[in-house]
Amino acid sequence: MSHTIERAPDERVNWLGSAPFILMHLAPLGALFTGVPWVAWVVMAVLYFGRMWFVTAGYHRYFAHRSYKMGRVMQFIMAVGATTAVQKGPIWWAAHHRHHHKYSDQENDVHSPKRGFWWSHMGWILCRKYDATRTELVPDLMKYPELRWLNKYWIIPQVALIAAVFGFGLLFSGGAVVPALGIVFIGFFLSTILLSHTTYTINSLSHVLGRRRFATNDTSRNNWVLALITGGEGWHNNHHHYQGSTRQGFKWWEIDTTYYVLWVLSKLRLVWGLHTPPKRVLTRHLIKQGAPDIGTFDKYWAKAVKALQQSGHATGDFATEQKAKLSELYVATRAKLLELANATAQKPAA
Ligand SMILES: [Zn+2]
Ligand SMILES: [Zn+2]
Repeated sequence: MSHTIERAPDERVNWLGSAPFILMHLAPLGALFTGVPWVAWVVMAVLYFGRMWFVTAGYHRYFAHRSYKMGRVMQFIMAVGATTAVQKGPIWWAAHHRHHHKYSDQENDVHSPKRGFWWSHMGWILCRKYDATRTELVPDLMKYPELRWLNKYWIIPQVALIAAVFGFGLLFSGGAVVPALGIVFIGFFLSTILLSHTTYTINSLSHVLGRRRFATNDTSRNNWVLALITGGEGWHNNHHHYQGSTRQGFKWWEIDTTYYVLWVLSKLRLVWGLHTPPKRVLTRHLIKQGAPDIGTFDKYWAKAVKALQQSGHATGDFATEQKAKLSELYVATRAKLLELANATAQKPAA
């Protein structure tokens, strides 16, 4: 699917700039030479789930969406914790994410799967185009000098964590360097790679695989497997429907471990003002009640047009005038559907 898409020069893979990211993927192979002490797997699990929590609770639900509150010291701790996940700085992350919600699956969405699966998964990170922080989208975060500093020197917490894991490895192995390195290869690098790719699935797979409860204007889906491995982020259709909610699992059975931990922290008064969706939000735009689903309309329309183009009939007339008519029809139908969707949104649900 992605091979048919033309990329601008600044949208192609920046091999030099991406070298550390690519090398990171090779680092766990070092364990073949050092061996892997059992504790490395414990470190891996702790760093995977711990940092996933910082990314989802911190970068996503706090910095990008401001769905709950915390004090300035706690905010900094949250930012440092999430920065160890090797996903650049807090302001960069939050700004790109706000942009994604603003333009979900539209032309200028940074990582819409409509531009190809791999593009949405990691292509957009490996090119030069999105290196800069979109500061205009995050004035609320730009006013903190400590966050601006961390956004610039995001590499520091990661290097500190690698040093800490190595130090722990030395302690565990009684000063022996080789097993300590094995703990770094698996404990830090393998967990970082897993963490990176499961985070990316929210931009890629969560817009492709799963069920849609709410008719949102994008292709977001709810997927319980992704929710389990990402601490609740897999309830992505819920999230696109109502971004203001700290809790992303809307039903009791929609496991959302990020929220559970935040709930405990709120009882300890370390965070406050957690949001959950109000009833009127839970009962509007429901697909099973017939809400027109613009998100999938686009997908099936695009599929139909592609099938037409690939068929033998798509030459001559089709290529010229009919294609233009088809585009007109698309615009008109979509506008009508949107109108309908908004009309049903006004009506209280049965
Ligand atoms: Zn979001
Ligand atoms: Zn999304």
